[in-house]
Amino acid sequence: MSFIGRDMAVDLGTANTLVYVRGRGIVLNEPSVVAVNQDTGGILAVGLEAKKMIGRTPGNTERMLRYFIQKVHRRRYLAKPRIVVCVPSGITGVEQRAVKDAGYAAGARKVYIIEEPMAAAIGAGLPIHEPTGNMVVDIGGGTTEVAVISLGGIVTSLSIRVGGDELDQSIINWVKREFSLLLGERTAEEIKMAIGSAYPLQGENDAEIRGRDLATGLPKTIVVSAAEIRKALEEPVNAIINAVKSTLDKCPPELSSDLMDRGIVLTGGGALLKGLDERLRKETGMPIHIADRPLDAVVEGSGKCIEEFEALEKVLISEPRR
Ligand code: ADP
Ligand code: MG
Repeated sequence: MSFIGRDMAVDLGTANTLVYVRGRGIVLNEPSVVAVNQDTGGILAVGLEAKKMIGRTPGNTERMLRYFIQKVHRRRYLAKPRIVVCVPSGITGVEQRAVKDAGYAAGARKVYIIEEPMAAAIGAGLPIHEPTGNMVVDIGGGTTEVAVISLGGIVTSLSIRVGGDELDQSIINWVKREFSLLLGERTAEEIKMAIGSAYPLQGENDAEIRGRDLATGLPKTIVVSAAEIRKALEEPVNAIINAVKSTLDKCPPELSSDLMDRGIVLTGGGALLKGLDERLRKETGMPIHIADRPLDAVVEGSGKCIEEFEALEKVLISEPRR
């Protein structure tokens, strides 16, 4: 896989990293994981391979970025690409610098940064340049970002450190407390995807959970209902809903009525949690839409910035902010 000198966009998510190449679309989609040798500090594996080895240990941002860019771009060629990297909106100047350095080290001609809610909004097809207000909620693995966008800029935003990982952790904690059963992160995530929800739904199923009995140390299987898992998820789900509500409260009144009409678009893997849209509908009274491919929205939006560079250059950050 090599796209010589082609501009590219990278969504460096806390759970998944996606790379988009100009004229090609998404060419890479792998877990954001780096396996490092504890003794030498050398990289053992990145992405899918690393996840197989160590599970969900988050990686070193800079090395990961360099690896993924190099995987699709061969730096020995003269043509140097422009690279758009999507970062969480709360990122510090130091972190931005590290992202840029990694991009240049990987052979970029110019590295641009785009804030995640902006990328998500573009990817979800929202009319970001119009004077109307648009709200996007991107629920990733480690964070949830809520933002109101108007006239090509972020009017107000909120980032909380609650996302899909926290939902998995809540399942682990609940099963441990109620059943003295120890679950792995992957099992918890599977349960969340299979029967997890934020609102009661028609025809809910039970699930069998296999874990390790804390008392005996032996494998044990239990059966849990969708209602029980919904209860287990209550705290992080409430945190996400409260983030949306408080961003609505902070929104300038002249945009609030736009938002009431246009509603909220959900992106990121967490948008797929069953019943989250319905729950938000009930709690906010607003129309709620799930983006067509929520997991791809951010990289699609970043990719659109390189496809239509001149039209969208203004939403990119080319120098570190203070
Ligand atoms: P990031 O941008 O932080 O890398 P993603 O947008 O890739 O995150 O989303 C990853 C998160 O989405 C994970 O926590 C994953 O468990 C969750 N997720 C993916 N599919 C589903 C689903 N069908 N139901 C609930 N959560 C999901
Ligand atoms: Mg993301």
